[in-house]
Amino acid sequence: MPPKSKVSIVTLGCAKNTADMDTLTRLLKARGHDVVADPAQADAIVVHTCSFIEAAKKESIDAILQAGQLKTKGKRLIVSGCLVQQHGDQIFNELPEVDAFLGTGQLSQIPDLLSTPRERFIDRARPGGFMDPDEPLPREVNGPSAYLRLSEGCSHPCSFCVIPRLRGAVQSRSEEMILREAQELSAKGVEEFSIIAQDTGDWGRDVQGTSKLPALLRRVGQMPGVRWVRLMYMHPVSFSDGLLDVFAEDPERFPYLDMPLQHIDSQMLSEMKRKTDETGLRRLIERIRTRVPELTLRTTFIVGFPGETDAQFERLLNFVKEGHIDYLGAFTYSQEEGTPAALRADQLPDDVKKDRLTALMDAYYVVAEKKAQSRLGKLETVVLEESEGDTVLGRTRREAPEIDAVVRLPRSASRKGRFITARLTGYDAYEFTAVPQ
Ligand code: SF4
Repeated sequence: MPPKSKVSIVTLGCAKNTADMDTLTRLLKARGHDVVADPAQADAIVVHTCSFIEAAKKESIDAILQAGQLKTKGKRLIVSGCLVQQHGDQIFNELPEVDAFLGTGQLSQIPDLLSTPRERFIDRARPGGFMDPDEPLPREVNGPSAYLRLSEGCSHPCSFCVIPRLRGAVQSRSEEMILREAQELSAKGVEEFSIIAQDTGDWGRDVQGTSKLPALLRRVGQMPGVRWVRLMYMHPVSFSDGLLDVFAEDPERFPYLDMPLQHIDSQMLSEMKRKTDETGLRRLIERIRTRVPELTLRTTFIVGFPGETDAQFERLLNFVKEGHIDYLGAFTYSQEEGTPAALRADQLPDDVKKDRLTALMDAYYVVAEKKAQSRLGKLETVVLEESEGDTVLGRTRREAPEIDAVVRLPRSASRKGRFITARLTGYDAYEFTAVPQ
């Protein structure tokens, strides 16, 4: 039996990266290695990087340099993921302290690398993700919430996005693997699923030409103990009436839709290659609001896309002020090497981008405050997650993990269980207060 290693994993970036490293952790344990929290105690450190935008790249480089400082004789440093996929050759030359560089499709090499070290190398073949290794690897559960990944990669042509280059074209997991994983997790006490992919609506189209997502969601929703199923990362063009039926049939169990719109101005949407326009998006939101008025809708916008005029930004700002969106994330456009939009001559200055981001978020916070005030006094089910001093933090079915507002309650609320009924009493700066009933 090759010597066991203690491995520490540093994960950056999106939920898909977290899913990759969760798969790696299970594989390492299945192969007899230990996964340790403290990199200083480890024989090997894996830094799984993100390269989505400039800020994410900087964060990844900082994490690699930090891990490099912990390197002592015999300790291995492995860097993997999107930064390797996008800038592999450059960082191979600039980071001599790193022993191996693995692209998004090469993560399965890590266990063997620990038992049979190789000369310093880089491998970025076949971009993708780390989904279902051959051997079945039971998932560990920590708490009532878990993600469920449907696929890896993306086949949409969005002109600003590097993901198809970093993670490859869409590769769907089999319905059987997804349902087996969901069954296993719900049997272990998971009551809330966040359904993830680059575009959840595209699941299955690469294998069966159509998406059977509505049927899959119903089956996950019917599993014993499952309370909430959140649908994340839905491209608007992939949203179907079949999905709307699922939400309308059971709005308690399917309370949340994350659908990145990226912009609302038709010219901007066309130049972003989003395959939709303002009329199409407004009609879609109206259809959703008509059939499921209480659905929580999250979206993402990009400000400062090349050529974005004051008038086009104003259109987006007014759309946000109209209050269609419950939760919103926004980014300044990032000129990503290898994307069509990066080659455009009409890039906007950073200060213009930053000003637009501030204006958009300020407009959104006014909307968020108004929506939050309208919920005060109401009874809601709250999942309790972490204690903080003499309080405990949680979320209602309207808040996704890590990205939306939180609910703060007196610590004594924990005595009532994990999911409790509470009355919302106050709201300030993305935080509700509530009292248990
Ligand atoms: S759908 Fe999302 S992941 Fe795919 S190319 Fe567009 S922005 Fe990128």
